[in-house]
Amino acid sequence: MLQIAIHIIIGVLIADLISGLIHWTQDHYGKASWPIIGGVIADNHRHHLHPDEFLTNSVLKRNYATFILIGLIGCVFAIFGWLNTITVTALIVGAWANEFHAFAHRYNDSRVLSGLRYFGLIQSPKHHRVHHQEDVWSHYCIITSYLNPAFRYFKVWRGLEICVEKITGVKAYRPPEK
Ligand SMILES: [Zn+2]
Ligand SMILES: [Zn+2]
Repeated sequence: MLQIAIHIIIGVLIADLISGLIHWTQDHYGKASWPIIGGVIADNHRHHLHPDEFLTNSVLKRNYATFILIGLIGCVFAIFGWLNTITVTALIVGAWANEFHAFAHRYNDSRVLSGLRYFGLIQSPKHHRVHHQEDVWSHYCIITSYLNPAFRYFKVWRGLEICVEKITGVKAYRPPEK
């Protein structure tokens, strides 16, 4: 039982980490002109200009791109026999990453949301606001409250940006701000 709980927590953290990697890539390297995923990147840039606007979209419109991505990854994992408690948790939580992000833009707390926020399993509006108002170069992970402070402290994203620039010559650009 304890092992399953630990595996579920690892799965949640993996989903959070990947949500941060995708968000960071979109913010600093993505171009709306890119084929296929350009529309998703445009939506992400629009989110920085109008942070609460995506709440007016349907659940499907907010999450369709992630559902497609996770569906494809899930098929690959199933084919190769990689489905287990950790990967299934990461896939399910990852599929809903942008919905957890939407919860961080909702200011009316339900008891369930308050409880999940209390334990850091989903982010509070205050936690996510750091990315929108205080530091657009930090707090990319959009699910839990666990990874962002550590990544900020150890300057993980800055380190990655330096690596990307050294290897490819591509500089990270500043995302549009509110
Ligand atoms: Zn961002
Ligand atoms: Zn946001």
